[in-house]
This record gives sequence, C-alpha cells and structure tokens, in this order.
Amino acid sequence: MIVKQIWTGNSYRNFNYLIACPETGDALAIDPLDHEKCLKAAKDAGWTITQILNTHEHRDHTGGNEQMVRKTGAEIIAHQNAGDRIAGMARGLGAGDIVSVGKTVELETLDTPGHTMSHVCLLSHTDQPALFCGDTLFNAGAGNCHNGGHPAQLYKTFAEQLARLPAATRIYPGHDYIENNLRFTLNREPDNARAAEMLAALGGQDPSQAYVSTLEVEREINTFFRLTSPTVIAKLREAFSDLPDNPDPRTVFLKLRELRNSW
Ligand SMILES: [Zn+2]
Repeated sequence: MIVKQIWTGNSYRNFNYLIACPETGDALAIDPLDHEKCLKAAKDAGWTITQILNTHEHRDHTGGNEQMVRKTGAEIIAHQNAGDRIAGMARGLGAGDIVSVGKTVELETLDTPGHTMSHVCLLSHTDQPALFCGDTLFNAGAGNCHNGGHPAQLYKTFAEQLARLPAATRIYPGHDYIENNLRFTLNREPDNARAAEMLAALGGQDPSQAYVSTLEVEREINTFFRLTSPTVIAKLREAFSDLPDNPDPRTVFLKLRELRNSW
C-alpha cells in the first residue's frame, strides 16, 4: 500500500489522499476536493484513480467528486446512508465492509458516527495499520458536531472503536489542525509536556510535509483521549463547578467537546 497525503492549501486546511496498489497502479482517492492536485499526483506517480471514497457528506470532502468522475470515470463510495446527500454514489459501505484497491490493498470500513451520522473511517490491513479518519479524529483533536452530528455518538465512536485500535496505527485525518489543537490540549492540560514539545516542534510546519502521528501519540497529546487525566478533570471543574468527583469519561468528553466549540 502506498499512501500519498495531498495538502490542498485551501482555507479549510483539507488533506486529500491517494491510496495506491504498488502492483497494479490502481488508486483510491479519499475526499479529493482538490481534484486537480489529486489528478496531477496520480499522473506523476503513474497511477489510475478507479475509486473515490468520501468519508462523509460535507461539501469540503465531496466537492471534487464531479470533476474527478468526469476525468477518470471512478466509482464513488461512501457510507450506506449518505446516498441522498452524495450525488452519484455507486456503493454504500457498512461496518466491516472491505474496500479493495488493485491486488494488494484492503481497507476495512469502520462506521464512525458523531461528526455526521453517515461517516466512515477506513483502516488498512497492513503490518502497521493506517486509519483514514476524515473529520472524526484529528491530530490532537476531535471533529465538531455542528452540521448533522451528535457529541454522544462521537464519544461512543472514540471509546468503542478508535481507542481500541493498535497503538502503532498511523493517523491520516481530513484536515491539518494540529497546531490549533495542541494549543487547546495545553489550555486544558497545561502540564502536558509532550504536547508542549510537539507544539514547539510542529508549530508552523509545512503541511505538504506534514507530521503523521500514531494512536499511541494521540493518547498522549489528544485531550479527547485523556479523559481520566487529573489535570484535565481539575481544569474542567473550573468551567463546570457541578462536575462530580470522579466524572465518568463520557461526561468529561462531552464537556470538553462543548468547551472546544467556544474556544
Ligand atoms: Zn466535515
């Protein structure tokens, strides 16, 4: 499996991806908003884009579909319930469904509601797994729930699916938000030395050569995985005085999600 992360350079800070089979040169384009950059990258590498995967229905993820289909004839794949919001969807995915690319690449569908209710992440079947997580999980952050999402569902997705993936899983999100998200982590957990180190190292990074984290790293720097940290809980109590003594992780997650909205 070859992964090419494509920085769009747009104001939404989208990352698009090409996933290619090294044997056949077939490629899957994930959320190819910047269809021109994706097509150029495929051409430069000698790949043929045969499938388009939309992690979810938001326009900054699907907006390149039409041009991409026109130029490649690629098939559009997305969550099975997204068909009425994604024009031309050819295949609907449910949990556990496999997306194959060429002869060698297998990607497993995770049904991951929260950011929207029709959101999928793809997990590669490779020695070191890779997770293509759209707007569900970001480096040091979590997706918002403003446009068709639900915070309690997002918590469930984090707790029951993402947190249980192998520590070495590489994280490929839909946007470059790492700098701002690390600032939020430090706002919530000022004694998080790893987050402070990473902000110093990655602040102002060139997103076309972006740092790729792992789940193990996210557990250290992502507030939404640090729901039992005493500092996180103590700081949260400053904002929510009614927080119980030993708040359950779900409550902490939901309060953090709420704070992040206005931060
Ligand atoms: Zn979105």
